[in-house]
Amino acid sequence: QATSAEVVGALHAIADLLRDNEDELGRLDAIAGDGDHGRGMTRGSAAAVEAAEHAAADGVGPAAVLVAAGDAWASKAGGTSGVLWGAALRSFGDLLPDDRAVTAADLAAGAEAALAAVQRLGRAELGDKTLVDALVPFADDLRGAVDEGGGAVAWRRAAAVATKAAAATADLRPRTGRARPLADRSVGTPDPGATSLALVLTRVGELLD
Ligand code: ADP
Ligand code: MG
Ligand code: MG
Repeated sequence: QATSAEVVGALHAIADLLRDNEDELGRLDAIAGDGDHGRGMTRGSAAAVEAAEHAAADGVGPAAVLVAAGDAWASKAGGTSGVLWGAALRSFGDLLPDDRAVTAADLAAGAEAALAAVQRLGRAELGDKTLVDALVPFADDLRGAVDEGGGAVAWRRAAAVATKAAAATADLRPRTGRARPLADRSVGTPDPGATSLALVLTRVGELLD
């Protein structure tokens, strides 16, 4: 059973990871976008940690902690990715059980809900060179692994799939978002949002047991 403290701890680890990668993510975003992706992810995740700590101190369960974290991320990060990350975290949190152990099926349903929220808001499709290109294969792989049991093992395998998919976005041209006008310039460079998503999914996999 996930506890509120574990969710806060995971958000801390995510915020540390994103701070460590802030410059690199900004560099990726500067090639065809506006260069603020690293800054936005650092700001969003720091706000999420703060909100999660407050919610946990109020004694709410892990699902409500994640929902509070998502709302703070969306409102403080700025930028397209901040809105999408906030909605994704909130949707994922809505599906976490408060009263029993988290199963592989819960994780898969959470990933699917996060993807649905991202696509409802952003309307990006596979191949548009966005974080959707990493999130779709992640959610698909996680869903496929449900019958094999083991949530943590399944998550780590799906995160490896997402990492490969994020790297493969280097071959694509952006068809939506801020990078579209300079689409040709971005060929050869992976999408920043897909890259940061894969980093976070990998880190979470290391924390699950
Ligand atoms: P902004 O583009 O507003 O400056 P960021 O730089 O933080 O925001 O995030 C850019 C990333 O957001 C892109 O690399 C892409 O992965 C993601 N993104 C942009 N538009 C969309 C969209 N419509 N749907 C999904 N992801 C998107
Ligand atoms: Mg940007
Ligand atoms: Mg921006």
